[in-house]
Amino acid sequence: MSRIFNFSAGPAMLPEAVLQKAASEMQDWHGSGMSVMEMSHRGKDFMSIAERAESALRRLMQIPDNYKVLFLQGGASCQFAMVPLNLLGNKTQADYIHTGAWSKKAIAEAKRYCEVNIVANSEASQFSDIPDFSTWQLNSDAAYLHYTPNETIGGVEFHWIPDCADVPLVADMSSTILSRPVDVSRFGIIYAGAQKNIGPAGLTLVIIREDLMGNARDTTPAMFDYATHAKNGSMYNTPPTYSWYLAGLVFDWLLELGGLSAMAAINQRKAEKLYHAIDNNDFYQNPVAVKDRSWMNVPFTLADAALDKVFLEEAEKQNLKTLKGHRSVGGMRASIYNAMPEAGVDSLIDFMQQFAAKHG
Ligand SMILES: *Cc1c(COP(=O)(O)O)cnc(C)c1O
Repeated sequence: MSRIFNFSAGPAMLPEAVLQKAASEMQDWHGSGMSVMEMSHRGKDFMSIAERAESALRRLMQIPDNYKVLFLQGGASCQFAMVPLNLLGNKTQADYIHTGAWSKKAIAEAKRYCEVNIVANSEASQFSDIPDFSTWQLNSDAAYLHYTPNETIGGVEFHWIPDCADVPLVADMSSTILSRPVDVSRFGIIYAGAQKNIGPAGLTLVIIREDLMGNARDTTPAMFDYATHAKNGSMYNTPPTYSWYLAGLVFDWLLELGGLSAMAAINQRKAEKLYHAIDNNDFYQNPVAVKDRSWMNVPFTLADAALDKVFLEEAEKQNLKTLKGHRSVGGMRASIYNAMPEAGVDSLIDFMQQFAAKHG
């Protein structure tokens, strides 16, 4: 099998060591004679896998004891509804930051349940930057403040955490979780679909401060109530067992690598090289304000869009896959999550330089 580098935004690459370990345990997990996929989620073996994964994540992210970790399904998109259903209580409004395509979806869903205040919006700059915090119009009566720390499509990332005093801060970290250390105690809820930086699709991680549970609206389906899942250790119904197991292997891999500070140093280096290569060649362009550029998703365009197709074909031949930009923006996008080796970024940069020299 020849080595390929897959720049997909999600489902995305998984660490090679993790896939090898999963392959070696595929049909017989630790002498159980069974695949993890075939185990009862309530049996002793799976319970040990589940607990181990949670404790590894708690260590990695230094999650305080007054936070629950939930292993759910439904994707980040399901959280767009669960957040308002659970956090509104007797309030009628929530604050949202609009920085691109994913926050737009979160906002549209929240509007079904409450009054949404768009307290900052970068639409005017075509979502190429993050509005300065001093311009935000926060409401002290909001049930929570929701933002998207990394806009996966636009390639815009917060390199800081907003301060909203006593209003709980809710973050859709789908495409940035585990890429660097974060102070969990600053958040009410952190949620993330797994398929970018955690593991296989099908698992959704929710980290929630305990006091924010138990106030869901009466009509909230049991499956949409955080309290249901917290009370049942994420086993109210059958959880996504294999994805949970694989996420655990990814957490172990990160711990072995030295944890999130070590990962952050690698991620920053990878991103800086790639932006440097883009900025230093007139043939390529990235539209995002330098201070707000994502470490995880790097969109770029070619000087001549007519060459997009050739670029993708030639990249493919060099084993550089899935570089096509999102259909809403066009151009290219290189997603360089934790599992993308630095060698993959180096290889992409080499290719980009050769391509520009040949066609520029
Ligand atoms: C991918 C993504 C989503 C959607 O996730 P699903 O798990 O497919 O629902 C939401 N928010 C962000 C920031 C994403 O990157």
